[in-house]
Amino acid sequence: MARSVVVPGAGEVVDLDARLCRVRIELPGHSIGHLNSYVYRTDDGLLVIDVPWDAPGSAENYLRLLEAAGLDVHAIRTILVTHYHSDHWGIAGRLRALSGARVGLHRLDAWNLVRRFDDGRGFARDLRAWLELVGADDRATDIAMHQAFDLVGQDGHLRPDFLIADGELLHQGGVSLRALHTPGHTSGHLAFADLERSVVFTGDHIYRRRRGTASTRLYSSADPMGDFWRANDALLALAPRTVHPAHDESFDDLPARLDELRGVAARHLEQILWIADRPRSAADIAREVPRSRAWHELGDTAVLTAIGETHAYLIDAAARGLVRRIPGPPELWVRDDAGPEHPGDAHDPRAA
Ligand SMILES: [Zn+2]
Repeated sequence: MARSVVVPGAGEVVDLDARLCRVRIELPGHSIGHLNSYVYRTDDGLLVIDVPWDAPGSAENYLRLLEAAGLDVHAIRTILVTHYHSDHWGIAGRLRALSGARVGLHRLDAWNLVRRFDDGRGFARDLRAWLELVGADDRATDIAMHQAFDLVGQDGHLRPDFLIADGELLHQGGVSLRALHTPGHTSGHLAFADLERSVVFTGDHIYRRRRGTASTRLYSSADPMGDFWRANDALLALAPRTVHPAHDESFDDLPARLDELRGVAARHLEQILWIADRPRSAADIAREVPRSRAWHELGDTAVLTAIGETHAYLIDAAARGLVRRIPGPPELWVRDDAGPEHPGDAHDPRAA
């Protein structure tokens, strides 16, 4: 049975095999509540995939977890970052200072990181333009602008030591990982495949239970949903035995999980198309999509995610000829068969 070490208040470390372990660190205030950081004991020190955000106590808790599992922080040689969201790299700079580790991520997310932190005023301007484009209301705009400048726990000075390209093979002390560019969640999102173990570390690309991870946000790719599905083809081609996501549990049957997600996405798109019977913004459509909780009960991050996800669905649907985009801001979207057969809706589309 796998060895497991629990550190109360910090999390748990589980040995997945003799060399590989999962450090699950609790992240109070995070929508999922924890991060799975994966650590290899290689013949040449430790190799780590994703480290937690830099909220008060998280660096200390991460060090406590490593210590409890007999992992020497000074031995970290490499930190691979799946994407630039702070819950995946926040303490990387502090770990680098302790160990001399080299931090790597994809070129596009390195660029996102720079744009995010180096020019606050430019970022605010870009963010406001994006919010106008998707038709965000005052609440969503307030949330986004507030979050944008709540930089607690984010080390804006982190710069990667190396950039990782799609398909690149990374070697360290007897461990080999192939990097796969899996855009969708962010434009520069990476997965890492260990072909010897037949496992793939998918970051926030795919989870065992949660639905979608692809959405538009500021600086996302042009078609995140389309990118998400194209990236899945590359993952499937590897035929991994086990998928290790950055949150949630690991799982084995990737083809079955993708089938499930395909069904969920088709039903979700159907609802979006139903609502887009007359021109509406992505935010207006998102508000009307049936969900388990009422719109006004959604948490702050959930509101922005819902808008970005709906926007991503609409972009993908437009690429497939299912909806038309009417340039904005705000951009409006209308089902492509809307119009003559819906005479009742023939009033000013923007009046709603
Ligand atoms: Zn995450």
